[in-house]
Amino acid sequence: MYPEILISDEKLKQIANKVLDGNRISLDEGVYLYDNGDLSLLGFLANTIRERKNGNNTYFNRNLHIEPTNTCVYACKFCSYYKKKGEDGWEYSQDQIVEMVRNAGSDITEVHIVGGVHPKWDVHYYGEIFKQIKSARPDIHIKAFTAVEISYISKRAGMSVREGLQTLKEYGLDSIPGGGAEIFDEEIRKQICGQKDTAEQWLLVHQTAHELGIPSNATNIYGHIENNWHRVEHINRLRDLQDKTNGFNVFIPLKFKNKNNELSYLPEVSIIEDVKMYAMSRIYLDNFPHIKAYWPMIGRDIAQLLLSFGVDDFDGTINDSTKIYSRAGANEQSPAMTTDEMVELIKAAGRKPIERDSIYNVIKEY
Ligand code: SF4
Repeated sequence: MYPEILISDEKLKQIANKVLDGNRISLDEGVYLYDNGDLSLLGFLANTIRERKNGNNTYFNRNLHIEPTNTCVYACKFCSYYKKKGEDGWEYSQDQIVEMVRNAGSDITEVHIVGGVHPKWDVHYYGEIFKQIKSARPDIHIKAFTAVEISYISKRAGMSVREGLQTLKEYGLDSIPGGGAEIFDEEIRKQICGQKDTAEQWLLVHQTAHELGIPSNATNIYGHIENNWHRVEHINRLRDLQDKTNGFNVFIPLKFKNKNNELSYLPEVSIIEDVKMYAMSRIYLDNFPHIKAYWPMIGRDIAQLLLSFGVDDFDGTINDSTKIYSRAGANEQSPAMTTDEMVELIKAAGRKPIERDSIYNVIKEY
């Protein structure tokens, strides 16, 4: 039994009750709820679903990020990461990357590899790295490449996306992260990252990965020139694909940050907008098991707050190994958290910290 919801707007009340009854809401209903629901209503609905799906649990893992290069054949307007003309960049060698994994310590369970789309590197170049990583640390989970990297490195090796993914899997790829989705709406996508793969191509890479038994994550980038309809339409396409494949583990809303990129003239959205985006994601994505707050991007305090607005995953300890958001002006300029800090942060929000592996098997309960 749920409390009578005191909402004067009849349509809003119907949608809220539909959510509470465990029924799926449509795209139009999602947009209506987003436009008209206040923070307390969205929070109540999102938290109810969060607790039904995941109880009081809040997941994290011990991970290392490696960004092999910031050289990129693309120049997405929202991106602060790729090497601009006249800037110093980096290109780690295969040996350097393997060395980073060796030096990371035996408690790290996952290596997360994403970076720029290098003009020359292909499936076999990265495959050699995977082979050596697995030989040094057979138990480590390799989560690597955004969909646009997979398309490019497959093409560069003369392969289809399916062949590229299958070959990467044979080399040691275990899962793929969710980056590169940005915003699926064709018009908005054209304006912020018109050169890169289309929405259809992103979805096809993930569908193919799922068909090959490679799980993945999904993201969006919100808070630039899109509106609520574009945000819900984006997660609607993800929900449709998840119905077909059930291969996504988690959805991660990513906030547009406005330092050092071509959209720097845009203001960043408020914390209220952040919280609403996370809550709507939890409400709408009824077939996604988890919603993650990527704390190096959103900041640890807001991530902690989001644990009451649908979020049940805190990403990992990271170990100061990512530059993607620090270059865009994130609060966390050197993101690193010890396991003790992570556990305390989660406990302070009244939640139960659970260390997980990359596919949400429980490693340790705190
Ligand atoms: S978002 Fe990715 S693909 Fe686009 S420019 Fe940045 S690194 Fe390159």
